[in-house]
Amino acid sequence: MPNETVREADPAVADALDAERRRQNETLAMIASENHASEAVMEAQGSTLTNKYAEGYPGERYYAGCEHADEVEQLAIDRAKELWGADHVNVQPHSGSQANQSVYLAMLEPGDKILSLDLTHGGHLSHGHPANFTGQIYTVEQYEVDPDTGYVDFEGLAETAEEFEPDIIVSGYSAYPREVDFGRIQEVADAVDAYHLADIAHITGLVAAGVHESPVGVADFVTGSTHKTIRAGRGGIIMCDEEYADDIDNAVFPGAQGGPAMHCIAGKAVGFKEALSEEFEAYARQTVDNAAAMADRLQDHGLSLVSGGTDNHLILADLRPSHPDTTGKEVEEALASAGIIMNANTVPGETRSAFNPSGIRLGTPALTTRGFTESTCREVADLIMKVVDDPGDESVVADVAARVEELTDEYPLYD
Ligand SMILES: *Cc1c(COP(=O)(O)O)cnc(C)c1O
Repeated sequence: MPNETVREADPAVADALDAERRRQNETLAMIASENHASEAVMEAQGSTLTNKYAEGYPGERYYAGCEHADEVEQLAIDRAKELWGADHVNVQPHSGSQANQSVYLAMLEPGDKILSLDLTHGGHLSHGHPANFTGQIYTVEQYEVDPDTGYVDFEGLAETAEEFEPDIIVSGYSAYPREVDFGRIQEVADAVDAYHLADIAHITGLVAAGVHESPVGVADFVTGSTHKTIRAGRGGIIMCDEEYADDIDNAVFPGAQGGPAMHCIAGKAVGFKEALSEEFEAYARQTVDNAAAMADRLQDHGLSLVSGGTDNHLILADLRPSHPDTTGKEVEEALASAGIIMNANTVPGETRSAFNPSGIRLGTPALTTRGFTESTCREVADLIMKVVDDPGDESVVADVAARVEELTDEYPLYD
């Protein structure tokens, strides 16, 4: 039985953990940034390494007794280098946001200039949003997607870069359904003599498997999360050329963090090994094929997709053209009642609020992990549209919930 030892010590927490396992088994996780790690990754994360202080890096720690921590961290580093082809890798960031924080700390002074994509156009809080520390200590200017095409407006980006003279340009996004042209952003960065940070948080797994263009060797810094399209447990990672290795390592520790979360680094090592397999490459390809099949089907039903489709694992739909009186939040709540868990999202040219936006964001990474293929994903698109057409109709929601229950039974996840 999972959580058996926790149950003996703490029934209240065990109840919640058991319920969460059931929730993941019995619902469809379609939040584009979520996935399901293997039991092996989760066991590594729950290991005795949670007890170990290992400030420093393999072979040069500030504490005794680090020989096994060294082994684990070195395995994670070596596998990451193989996966992404990077010169230098730091696997210690506690999350993708901390990875970005460390790059800024390494390369910028307070007041320096960040040029990044607007949050409502698909950017991320850690790219200079006023609510994030990055928006408070750096000077931030933003670029946008073209309102007509939904693709990054490269000409606007180049013009803004000339005027603003940024110290760093950030690419890589949270709600962008298209392949990112890292080379083109690098050209802009070169033209204005700025660093280029490519934040591949969402697409780490797609890049590792070669189903999305890689910014490694193109951008100066590449950061990512290890729990999204790659299933290596919650955490972050930084990759760069050897030339910046010491700056980055010193920025992560002691600059931004204390002792590394060695248990999470063990999870990363195991997840990276899994991702080096042929099965993982097939998984990443299927994730993208599933999103494409779902996007086509949603459009057949008349739903308007930002950029007209997807190249990656996510779909961003704008409800306004087809369902002007329905908000993203309404759909999110109705779908959650039916066991389909996704999120309302702002869309470019948003006319509502960030809390009750006009769009929905759908992702296929977690569905693909549980074995869904194009045909199942087309059916999920049909189920979603039933609810989008009638979010207030309880009998529709009940019908969809019944089918979700059958599908999750048919494609089991955790024992
Ligand atoms: C998810 C995400 C991050 C990092 O998120 P964490 O929760 O801190 O791991 C960073 N950048 C982008 C673009 C993201 O989508």
